[in-house]
Parts: sequence; structure tokens; C-alpha cells
Amino acid sequence: MEPIQTCKLCLYPVSHPLGLTLDEEGICSGCRVHEEKDRLDWQERWRNLEDLIRPYRSPSGQTYDCIVPVTGGNDSYFIVHLVKEKLGLNPLLVTYNKYFNTPLGIWNLANLRIQFDCDILVQNVNPNSVKRITRTTLREFGSIYWPCIAGQTVFPVQTAVRYGVPLIVWGAHQGLEQVGMFSHEHEVEMSRRYRKDHDLMGHEADDLLSIFDTLTEDDVWQYRYPPNYDLERVGVRGIYLGNYVRWDPKAQHEEMMRRHGYRTTRFARTFDCYDHVDCYNFMDLHDQLKRYKHGFSKVTDHASREIRHGRLTRDEGLALVSQYEGMPLKHLDKFCDWLGVNVRALNFILDQHRNARFWKQTAPGVWAVSQIEQGEAPHNIETVFGGGGFLANSLLTDADQKKYITVGKGWP
Ligand SMILES: [Zn+2]
Repeated sequence: MEPIQTCKLCLYPVSHPLGLTLDEEGICSGCRVHEEKDRLDWQERWRNLEDLIRPYRSPSGQTYDCIVPVTGGNDSYFIVHLVKEKLGLNPLLVTYNKYFNTPLGIWNLANLRIQFDCDILVQNVNPNSVKRITRTTLREFGSIYWPCIAGQTVFPVQTAVRYGVPLIVWGAHQGLEQVGMFSHEHEVEMSRRYRKDHDLMGHEADDLLSIFDTLTEDDVWQYRYPPNYDLERVGVRGIYLGNYVRWDPKAQHEEMMRRHGYRTTRFARTFDCYDHVDCYNFMDLHDQLKRYKHGFSKVTDHASREIRHGRLTRDEGLALVSQYEGMPLKHLDKFCDWLGVNVRALNFILDQHRNARFWKQTAPGVWAVSQIEQGEAPHNIETVFGGGGFLANSLLTDADQKKYITVGKGWP
């Protein structure tokens, strides 16, 4: 096990899977790019965005102006708010059903299309294929989320080609926000290459076929990125709003809760109540696998983001990380039930993916993990964010829900 070297300002380790560099002052590339948020002229950048989208407005109003990928969580409300209410575009919303749906996510998605008066297209890949792929990617590279990410990143592009609507509007760029892979001023756009290398851990749909004999053409074709000649024929491009708006998920979510009724919930493994409330696994099993493989989990992402925005000190962030990152999973039984495996067999597979750089088995079934330095005495999140902080609705948190809602009803 190695000691983990981290940024002096935020909590990110140099082993961050998206790649991160420390400068001579020990400050990471993500923190440096974050500093641009207080330096750039955001009014000017917004005008750049207005110029960029102008050619995509449908003159007749008889077709969609753009495609917006959404879920029942994350930044979806804020993105649609900007696209529809601020830019005045008529978007086609698209969502990929990842099957790990919470009642809250189903509700948020139904409310989203009502609040913003938008059409929505839902992709339901047949569950047998999804399960076959999930078993394979879990076993081979410790990911239960490969089909979710592959689907979420490809369905909007396929829809752009099929409907002949070239502009896709995404929220923030993860590589920019977390590790400063690009400057805001690069105005980086969606690419096949980034999707493969970072979103999909280096494995496109067709790679799964050539690597694993457990999958067939029938399983993977829905996850295939459209060919270049189709993308060029339609002129498909995907832009990131985070290049044109000073991105602040906490403030944005709170605005969307007030204005449009976005609903939130508490999680066992992080203090942020806003992200990924649509999924049972993202903050649960997927989060644990992230920690097994990379030595840190989502609470480090959240704490680093809040430190950069000046709402947490580094010590408070460290304390929150040590308070949350080892918390036990709450929804493993639902995953085992859905995939058809037992918990012991699953745990055996999970242990195979503990990265020896961070984990060491000290006795059968007992694991030690490298820790970044400890913070001050743990704070209670209510103290840290007292009053107007991260608010959780108690509605629809579904303590009694025994299974995923694989396909949800639309609320009126
Ligand atoms: Zn940093």
C-alpha cells in the first residue's frame, strides 16, 4: 500500500483516474481550472453561447432545436431551465433507463417534463442484455455502471442522428470540473474519444464482444456510437453549458428545488443530498467499487467541490470523508435480486477489484486501506452546512421499496 499524495487545497489524490497534475505549489490542475470561475467574464461567455446556438433555432418552430440528455437526478433540471427558459430553445429530452431507479428519480423525471413542458424520449434496452453486460463488466473490470454510462452517453447521439437534430446540450464536463483536464476557454465539446477513454474505461461496445465470449452482437448494438459519416451528415455536436455558465451544483440544485420542485434525499455514504437521487446504486455499490479501485469515493468528489467553492475548509472536508467513505451499503440486496446473484458470491467478485495500491488483506476477510490524512474531529453535516445547506426531502425515500422500479409510471 502506498501513502496517498493529495492536492494541498482540495482532497483529490494524484491517482485520480481522470488524470491530475500537481504544480510546484502542490495545487492540482482541477483547483487551478476552478480558479477561472472567479476570473472569467461570465456575461461575455453567455453571449458566446447565444451566438453559438443561434443557427440551431428552428425557424418554423416545427421541429426540435436541440437534444438534452436528462435523468431524475443530477443537474437535469438546471440544464433544461437554461435551455428552455434562458435560451428559449425547444429541446427534445432523452433519457436512458438504467433500471436502478428510485421512486424519487421516477417522480423527478415525471415532474421535469411537466414543469418545463417538454417532450421526452426514453430508451429501454431489454433487461436481459443489460444484465448480461452488467455481469461481464462487473466481473472483468469491476464496473456495474458500464451499461448505464454507455447508454447515457450514446442514446442522445443516436437520437441526434435519427431525428436530424444536430445540437446536443450537456451540463458540466466532468474532466474539466474534477481534474482541470481542459480550461473553460477551450470550450471543449463532446467526443467519441473522451467517451471511450474516460466514460467507458477504455472499452467501447465492440471491444466487449472481442474481449468476452459471454456477449453477442444482440447485446451490444444498442450501445454503439454512430459512425462518423452519420455524425458528419447531420452535423452532430455536443456542447457543455459549464463552459458558458459559472457552474455551481449546490446553488443550482437549491434554485431548482425552489423554482421547480426538484426533490432530494439523504445518502449513507455522502453528505450531498442532490446528486444521483434517481439511482439506488450510484452512491451505494458503485460508490464502494470506486473506492476499491481508486482509493476514494464520491464523498471526496463532493468535499473537494465544496472546498473549491469556499463552503468547506479542507479540514472539514477531510472530516466528512472519514465520516462517510466507509459507511456500509444499504441497497446491495436489491442489486443481488435484480442480477440474480447471492451476496457472498458478489462480495467475492468485489474483493477481486480492490486495488493493491490502496488495499491490503490483513486477515481473511479483513482489509486495511491507505488513508489520506485525517481531518479534525468529525463535524456533523448540519453544523457544517447549518440552515441553508444541503436539504433532504423526506418524501419518497422509500424505506420499504424492495426492488427497483424498472419502468415507472408518469405522474400527472
Ligand atoms: Zn486540488
